[in-house]
Amino acid sequence: MSQQSIKNVVIVGGGTAGWLSAGVLAAKLGQQSLQKTSAINVTLVESPEVSTIGVGEGSWPSLRDTLLDIGIKESEFITQCHASYKQGSTFSRWKYDDKPHQYQHPFTTPSGYVEMDIHAQWQNLCAEESFEQSFCIQPEMCDLGKAPKQVKTPDYAYVLNYGYHFDATALAHLLTSHCVSNLGVNHIKAHISSVNSAADGNIASLTTNEGDVIEGDLFIDCSGGKALLIGEHFGVNWRSMSGVLMNNRAMAVQVPYEDSDNDISSTTIATGKPFGWTWDIGLQHRRGVGMVYNDQFASSDQVQSTLLAHVGERASQATIDQCTIRSLSFDPGYREQFWVKNCLSLGMSSGFIEPLEASAIAMIELGLRMLYEQFPKDMFHMERLSKRYNDRFTYRWERVIDFLKLHYILSERSDPYWLAQRDPMSIPDSLKEMMEMWKYQPPSRFDFIQNEEIFPSASYQYVLYGMGYHTQVNHLLSTTPEAKKAMAIRKQLEQQRPQFMAGLPTNRQLLEQLVAMHSK
Ligand SMILES: Cc1cc2nc3c(=O)[nH]c(=O)nc-3n(C[C@H](O)[C@H](O)[C@H](O)COP(=O)(O)OP(=O)(O)OC[C@H]3O[C@@H](n4cnc5c(N)ncnc54)[C@H](O)[C@@H]3O)c2cc1C
Repeated sequence: MSQQSIKNVVIVGGGTAGWLSAGVLAAKLGQQSLQKTSAINVTLVESPEVSTIGVGEGSWPSLRDTLLDIGIKESEFITQCHASYKQGSTFSRWKYDDKPHQYQHPFTTPSGYVEMDIHAQWQNLCAEESFEQSFCIQPEMCDLGKAPKQVKTPDYAYVLNYGYHFDATALAHLLTSHCVSNLGVNHIKAHISSVNSAADGNIASLTTNEGDVIEGDLFIDCSGGKALLIGEHFGVNWRSMSGVLMNNRAMAVQVPYEDSDNDISSTTIATGKPFGWTWDIGLQHRRGVGMVYNDQFASSDQVQSTLLAHVGERASQATIDQCTIRSLSFDPGYREQFWVKNCLSLGMSSGFIEPLEASAIAMIELGLRMLYEQFPKDMFHMERLSKRYNDRFTYRWERVIDFLKLHYILSERSDPYWLAQRDPMSIPDSLKEMMEMWKYQPPSRFDFIQNEEIFPSASYQYVLYGMGYHTQVNHLLSTTPEAKKAMAIRKQLEQQRPQFMAGLPTNRQLLEQLVAMHSK
């Protein structure tokens, strides 16, 4: 088997991870792109008995590239997945329990970020303003509910960088029909009952409940929490991170809008509560609302009433009465290895920490990019590639954990849940070391030195300074020429402001225009 080329890829699972994998691999390496002799065949098998997780409705800007790669028109995605534009996250009440506090982590880095120490300029020129607004126009546009583009802006292009809020089940349907009809993906609806090994320990084939055998060269485990191949078959351990990031439960609810002109928020709104936090996202026809928490700090009744009270801030009792609450549980963590023999795991089977900052789909996209760009030629190549992949992705999961933890440790909330989340014993050494460094200098490219870091240093700055962290100002980097450049940037942003205000429609206005145009 070792010199045999990798022709047949079998994906187990038809959730977001499975269908994104099928779409990307078939579009990049299938017969549409490559000559028949080198093209791969993609088969996706999903169980009619096990439903998809059905949550995971916030994406990063990277989803635009992924959908473009797969060959889906943006208008098609927006209309069929009831999607809206997401320009970042708003964090409310993460700092205090007794007074309001809010900051944003927008998808746009501050203007001038690569040329100068923006932290020093912010402190010198405008420390009374919030950090995120001092060199970036996006937070103000989000506060006004503005869209990131105009109706005439081409598909996937932008005025302000954006990702999406979307209906996860609708995305799986759209990808299914596109992958099968346009990309030649072989779709099998069957429950896998056994995994069959070859003599060398690779997976040779899968057997379905009906007794059919599905053979392949590379198997991608997208079976969600079941982790059928990587967990059950190969027995790769789950590295639990519950001692670092404590959330292990979620309740989710879909809330229809009461008026057809309800605002559609341009950010995911994450609100701190006594024993967790709520997410609130706006799609075209409904909100997706949920609460993430640790079950040691609250009973499900307490969580349910906190969640419904949150929903009720913008919905009537009649609407609340129609809502069905879904409960989910998870152990935050990731696999000790993601790629073993001829099996790569992506999605929930490979890792999940919590919904904060919505990085799970982005990790799937990064995994797929590495897979298709370095697609293994044969089993020897695969062995080397899998080692490299495991190293890269262990590093990436560690950075996800550091970054998510950062959101909690600067809180001054006094509830036991928040005290536990910032217990010094629970903070990874890597983050502790960086926090020491960031007393003297802001997060920078010297802290994050890998290609395609999952979170850039600007993201750390948005969270640190949004939460009121103090870094000494670097006077060496706040010289007169630097200050002149910084003032020029601020002046330019101020001049552009009226154009943004007048030129950008609201999220709802743009979505309504697009949907009307494409349903003619
Ligand atoms: C509360 C919560 C909120 C989240 N929010 C976000 C977010 O905002 N942004 C984000 O990026 N991510 C988010 N995530 C993560 C995101 O939902 C997942 O990463 C994403 O949906 C991928 O899931 P999946 O495809 O791996 O698994 P699933 O959707 O669970 O799919 C598993 C598939 O495997 C199939 N399967 C299982 N067993 C078998 C079998 N024996 N035979 C054949 N098929 C089988 C099932 O039929 C199904 O098709 C969230 C997760 C949770 C829990």
